[in-house]
Amino acid sequence: GQPLIIAKDLKKHFPVRSGLFSRRSATVRAVDGVSFDVMKGETLGIVGESGCGKSTTARLLIGLIELDEGGIIFDGDSLGGDIGLKELRRGVQMVFQDSYASLNPRLTIVDSVAFGPKIQGLDKPAERARDLLARVGLDPDRFAQRYPHELSGGQRQRVNIARALAMEPRLVILDEAVSALDKSVEAQVLNLLNDLRREFGLTYVFISHDLNVVRYISDRVLVMYLGEVVEIGPSEAIYAKQAHPYTASLFAAMPSMDPDNRTEEPPLAGDPPNPIDPPSGCRFHTRCRFAEDVCAARKPALSIIGGEEAHLAACHIHEPGSGHSLANREAAQ
Ligand code: SF4
Ligand code: MG
Repeated sequence: GQPLIIAKDLKKHFPVRSGLFSRRSATVRAVDGVSFDVMKGETLGIVGESGCGKSTTARLLIGLIELDEGGIIFDGDSLGGDIGLKELRRGVQMVFQDSYASLNPRLTIVDSVAFGPKIQGLDKPAERARDLLARVGLDPDRFAQRYPHELSGGQRQRVNIARALAMEPRLVILDEAVSALDKSVEAQVLNLLNDLRREFGLTYVFISHDLNVVRYISDRVLVMYLGEVVEIGPSEAIYAKQAHPYTASLFAAMPSMDPDNRTEEPPLAGDPPNPIDPPSGCRFHTRCRFAEDVCAARKPALSIIGGEEAHLAACHIHEPGSGHSLANREAAQ
């Protein structure tokens, strides 16, 4: 496939006060050198604990916040050169967890869906809105004139999906978009998203803390830890065997649908370290049960796993000659 997005070495650092009573300012390295592609027509899942930089990465992709460093190429056009934030925002739409947040409580849902297209000067916004409401499973004769508070959470999320599609995006970023829904409603919305992706030729970035949901919807998965990519690869490969110890711990905490398929990996203990002052070398070394001296001393590079070029992990165990005691064994396999 062709990449729709090429994200290269994205960096976003936020200034914060280092303490409640301190005047010194510090920096949270929310996204700290993140690179990845999103291929046309695929769903890329992004996972990691809260605060790992998933949402900041999403906001960079949609142009809601500006990059400090790095580059984004959107369908061949580079941000800042060929296109500006405005044009990026037009091609990328986002659906958030809180189904209320992006809906104006004083607008009927048909007006909410028609609002963006109207502003953009797109053809027949109201008609477009009614068609899209029908397409997301909300009969316009019954629902068009209702207000957000008259809908269930699942119905409101369908409205938000219709709103996003009304802008004719190329990429839709779903940031915990089904996380607030009941399990049965969640499944319906996931199926709807899959159908819409095929029908409209969409590309998705799907951010979620729920690994079962990510597995269901994603072609590839990107794992972030403290502002960095630690593993990326095909969902099948990663769900079968996690290469990075952090990914393995994350997955060990996941309630398994299949009791024969539980890992022996102990689940992750404690919270991630403070992103203001991330650990040296491999940022996971303070929590990793395989950590050795080399891990604190040197940052591991993303290495190819199992000869599969599409599967990468940043861990000294997978870097031949890194000096980690398990690296040679791995390389000899
Ligand atoms: Fe663990 Fe070292 Fe690999 Fe980091 S580089 S994940 S600390 S073994
Ligand atoms: Mg988030």
